[in-house]
Amino acid sequence: MTSSAHRLVLWDIDQTLIDLRGAGRGWYRQVLEEVTGVAMTQMPDFFGRTERAITAEVLTRHGIEPTEELIRKMWAALTAVSELALPELAKRGLALPGAATALAGVAEAGAVQSLVTGNLREVAWHKLSAFGLHTHLDFEIGGYGDLSAYRPDLVAYAVDRAHAALGRPFEPASVIVVGDTPHDIDAARAHGAVAVGVATGRFDSEALREAGAQVVLRDLSDTKLVLSAVFG
Ligand SMILES: [Mg+2]
Repeated sequence: MTSSAHRLVLWDIDQTLIDLRGAGRGWYRQVLEEVTGVAMTQMPDFFGRTERAITAEVLTRHGIEPTEELIRKMWAALTAVSELALPELAKRGLALPGAATALAGVAEAGAVQSLVTGNLREVAWHKLSAFGLHTHLDFEIGGYGDLSAYRPDLVAYAVDRAHAALGRPFEPASVIVVGDTPHDIDAARAHGAVAVGVATGRFDSEALREAGAQVVLRDLSDTKLVLSAVFG
């Protein structure tokens, strides 16, 4: 049995820890127009996808070639918009039930916690700090949405970073990925990590189980269930 102190828990953000009620879509609308002068006419699917995947698709769908330079400009604008929105975020959105106590409980039990999220790191920081949910997370070792359009790459990166930063490896079975979409579950399973689905997004428990989640929680409100999902 792996000791609790040797667990790495990688949280998704949107619809897992917080719900910003579509703020991110509004930011894209604003950023596309600001950076390219083109008004947004169609919005791609956001759920569980990385910023690299979303940005490239937004540009392509509007007939713009997604060069690395343009993608970086979009991200700089996105980061600035999210920072400006910071004072409004807590009013506009909400921390999902139990998120704060779940993070505190897992920290208290001795696991290392970070993020695997489609968000950029700065945006992740703005989103979570708006709700006071940043304190138990090590942002340095997370896998963020600029890395790849393919979400499993983010898990691999976070596990490597955690190993390098903490000086000890995390076996796949000691890595727990928590998220609300089949993309989160796929990303975990691609590395043999434990996939914990939370049905607070668009996907219900059955869909998450079908995607391969070993554990599915209705939400994070029961800390005991969260701890048992993480520590087995
Ligand atoms: Mg999510």
